[in-house]
Amino acid sequence: MRNMLFDPRPKASRDELFDREKELEILDGSVGKPLIVVAGIRRVGKSSLLMSFLENRRGVYVDLREVRTRADLYRKLSDGLSSSLRRLGEGFLRQIRGVRVMGLEVELKWRGADSISISGLMEELSMRGRTIFVFDEVQGLRPPLSLELRNAISYVYDNVPNSTVVLSGSEVGLLHDFVGVDNPESPLFGRYYTEVHVERFPRSKSMEFLERGFSEAGRSVGGDALERGVELFDGIPGWLVYYGMAVIDGRDMDEVTESAISLARAEMGKLSDRERYVAKAVAGGARSWAEVRRAVEESSGTVIPKSALTRAVRRLEKLSVIQDYRFLDPVYEKAARRL
Ligand code: ADP
Ligand code: MG
Repeated sequence: MRNMLFDPRPKASRDELFDREKELEILDGSVGKPLIVVAGIRRVGKSSLLMSFLENRRGVYVDLREVRTRADLYRKLSDGLSSSLRRLGEGFLRQIRGVRVMGLEVELKWRGADSISISGLMEELSMRGRTIFVFDEVQGLRPPLSLELRNAISYVYDNVPNSTVVLSGSEVGLLHDFVGVDNPESPLFGRYYTEVHVERFPRSKSMEFLERGFSEAGRSVGGDALERGVELFDGIPGWLVYYGMAVIDGRDMDEVTESAISLARAEMGKLSDRERYVAKAVAGGARSWAEVRRAVEESSGTVIPKSALTRAVRRLEKLSVIQDYRFLDPVYEKAARRL
């Protein structure tokens, strides 16, 4: 059965994917290039785009969220392999050193005798035909794992012409740092790549998105509820889905708004105190470094060194929370007012 549009999970087929023809066309046209970067804020639909892109292609999708240890990393790799078992060729996989297929699950041996490295695995998989490797939310990896993956990618870039690597992430500045093509210290220094920036939907598309979702669920919803949803969530499909589901559950607008804001607030939990003050200042209308400084000093009651303030602003930019002293996600902005 076809998945509903208001399903909180990423879409995984072109049938289910709303719009994104242009982005799919660029991705389809880039298969065979060594490296593609897919950037966009949280909930904008990167994973949906990438999983739908991989549908019916020889590829592996690896979700790197929550990876802390090497064991985590290889577990995510084996999860990716397990989900593409049929497309990759089960019999073929069995022949690869360090790989075992147990029923529907793929096991990877990553240490000791007969183990396999990431680059080794990518190289082996590409022997059988052009293979796409998607690493989603890759900017969250910490050293030494980030270096291990980058080394593998640069090896594959140079030595495995049959592979295409796609790196994706929500924290766009950190994603670019991970790729590091401008950084002479990075193994990917100087490499060329194609970039796809996934943008929020324009107003008319957002309306259409909500209309379609409600009609699919057999609900007729007034133009007013559509307007309010589009107004509040500004074309970010993940929030539109969140809103659509809540309306279908019969929750009222204020309640939905509140729960979205608390979710955003929890997601900002990883910010430092100083970053929170800066976020709050920008949410309060500060539109320049000097205005932020004034607002932060006023609200925190402390004098903050210039360099520290600049660092906090830059980090919020790298995390894709703000850009040019504006919030990228209106729900985050509302949440930041309450920090
Ligand atoms: P991201 O990976 O950018 O954080 P996801 O792909 O996880 O975003 O999408 C967030 C939510 O929005 C999911 O419920 C997903 O199903 C929905 N969604 C995003 N983009 C689309 C789209 N183009 N068509 C249908 N649903 C989408
Ligand atoms: Mg995602």
